[in-house]
Amino acid sequence: MASKNLTLAPEELEEVTNWLPSQEQADAVFNEGEPMKKVLVTGGSGLVGQHLEEIMPSAIYLSSGDYDLTDTQDTICMMYDHTDNVDKSKNIETVVHLAARVGGIQANIDNQVQFYEDNMRINTNVVEAARKCGVKNLIAMLSTCVYPDGLLDYPMEEDMLEDGPPAESNYGYGIAKRAMYSHIKLCREKLGLNYSCLIPCNLYGKHDNFNTDTCHYVPALIIKIIQAKQQGLKGISLWGNGEPLRQFMYAEDLAKFIKVCVSHDIYQDLNVATPEVKTIREIAEIALKACDAEHLALEFDSTKPNGQFRKDVSAKQVEMIYPAMMYRLLEYGIKEVYDHLMESGLWK
Ligand code: NAP
Repeated sequence: MASKNLTLAPEELEEVTNWLPSQEQADAVFNEGEPMKKVLVTGGSGLVGQHLEEIMPSAIYLSSGDYDLTDTQDTICMMYDHTDNVDKSKNIETVVHLAARVGGIQANIDNQVQFYEDNMRINTNVVEAARKCGVKNLIAMLSTCVYPDGLLDYPMEEDMLEDGPPAESNYGYGIAKRAMYSHIKLCREKLGLNYSCLIPCNLYGKHDNFNTDTCHYVPALIIKIIQAKQQGLKGISLWGNGEPLRQFMYAEDLAKFIKVCVSHDIYQDLNVATPEVKTIREIAEIALKACDAEHLALEFDSTKPNGQFRKDVSAKQVEMIYPAMMYRLLEYGIKEVYDHLMESGLWK
């Protein structure tokens, strides 16, 4: 797919709709079998980890219940346990590092120091233990929150990552992720290791955190819509003024690209983001439609924080490296999550 301007005119929407993969395309491109490598995934119980496990089940998926990655000794144990087998064919060759302390906007604002400390420890421990145990390949997750706030040029490209400080609202998380970016770059450039970072935009999916105290915008939105429908309310109230711009990608689309990177040895720092850039209000309108709730009114509570105004990135490098990359449209992705929640019985 050629590079695209991320701000879409209405007449371009039809073209965007065509980016939704048909079943045959998806099968041909992504279901090409398991990578011929032994892979260990940290953060395997999280949103991305569970989506990855569905499409790459042969990897080893770990959570904080297996090893506490804020603990250096525990992290070294994890890596030794999977690289020091008598039968060398059982040793892992690739680490996909997803584990992180992640939170919504209020959790980030309230716990800046803890987000910094936990993520610094987790990331330093994992990258150091991997290189010391001879792991040749590692793919870690950054986030578009890591980019500078308030730049003049959007969408941002990979070489703009360090052009200014990250947003104040998630400074602790952003700086810790940037430290990992530098650590990984040094491992690649000075030690010749195949270590790299993917930089995803905001994510959502059916394996999301649906705890209303801690969840992100899209799951919170879907839960509010479900509850309003169930309780016969006239509308829902959302944080901020509805104007910030966001890119929300279905987590399975990222998982598919991770699988592609593992299988095809792609070790490059790359933005991974849907071309759909929408305001918070537009996303809410799309969700009302997807959840069959267009009768509900939207209210915005400007006493609550907006978060960063925009942080949209260009994924044109991914499109050049992997032209078959496809993204689910928000409307379809949100409907999938909504249907999943309703069918799971949790919200009936
Ligand atoms: P998530 O759902 O919050 O899952 C976090 C994972 O990390 C869980 O498996 C958790 O294990 C594990 N973990 C947390 N603390 C740990 C510790 N001390 N030791 C071992 N494991 C620990 O995260 P996600 O949404 O899948 O995100 C995956 C990656 O993508 C993260 O690096 C995140 O920063 C990045 N990312 C996420 C988003 C997003 O919108 N979600 C956007 C951009 C980038 P338990 O289940 O046992 O707690």
